[in-house]
Amino acid sequence: MSSFSADPSHPRYQSLLSRHRLEQAAKQGMLADSALIAHGRGEAYDYLIGEKTSPNALEATKNALAHLMAGKNPVISLNGNTTALAGYELMKIAEYLQCPIEVNIFYRTEQRINALFGYLDEIKQEHDINVNILGKNPDTKIPGLKGPRAKCCDEGIYSSDVILVPLEDGDRCEALVAMGKTVIVVDLNPLSRSAKMASITIVDEISRVAKSMLNLIETNDLPVIEIEFNNNKNLQASVNIIAGNYRSV
Ligand code: ATP
Repeated sequence: MSSFSADPSHPRYQSLLSRHRLEQAAKQGMLADSALIAHGRGEAYDYLIGEKTSPNALEATKNALAHLMAGKNPVISLNGNTTALAGYELMKIAEYLQCPIEVNIFYRTEQRINALFGYLDEIKQEHDINVNILGKNPDTKIPGLKGPRAKCCDEGIYSSDVILVPLEDGDRCEALVAMGKTVIVVDLNPLSRSAKMASITIVDEISRVAKSMLNLIETNDLPVIEIEFNNNKNLQASVNIIAGNYRSV
């Protein structure tokens, strides 16, 4: 990554760093044209949520990790923004889970796929991460979706029983749920279609989620599946935080 000069004491340091990472990723051809718009929507919700992990988001993160650990064929799906913001941490989590990463993007072009693989391979080698990265040669389709965004790998997304798909769009989330999978999404907007569709929605920023999931693993603070978890209540808790922050101005 090229040099980033903001001072860590700057109140918007994390936000500036994320923007810088995405600018760099865009220059490297990793992102679709609309990627920065999607990030802007996320930033707006993060502002309303208070730019910190809520107790219900942490609970959802723990429950998500417990499901990934219990899965027979878990998989972590990466799109462009997720790769740029949390590629390292998610590869480390996949290494721990001994599951594949699948690069799976909405606007699929060979140039973007190559740029994403180039970026991930570099991190993988630099940190000696032992993980299988799929998605270069998809060999099957997600039923119910049309066009290139339906493409996926039999060995990865298609055969998975538990899937972590950060920043997923509503349509694809719905199609994955219809396949009978436990679908875990990360989305700062608790009102999005994906957030409402998913089995577990982590309403939090993807860099924070990936760091906190990796921290749970590295500190051996391993969660168990929360049988009582209710995703609607979880979403409502995030909506209440947003509403409360509006009232408190
Ligand atoms: P849906 O089809 O589910 O209603 P959408 O069209 O709003 O979704 P997209 O534009 O496909 O969603 O994806 C962007 C989503 O990702 C937004 O809901 C946004 O809040 C969320 N988002 C963007 N950046 C981040 C981030 N860094 N961390 C977590 N969520 C993010």
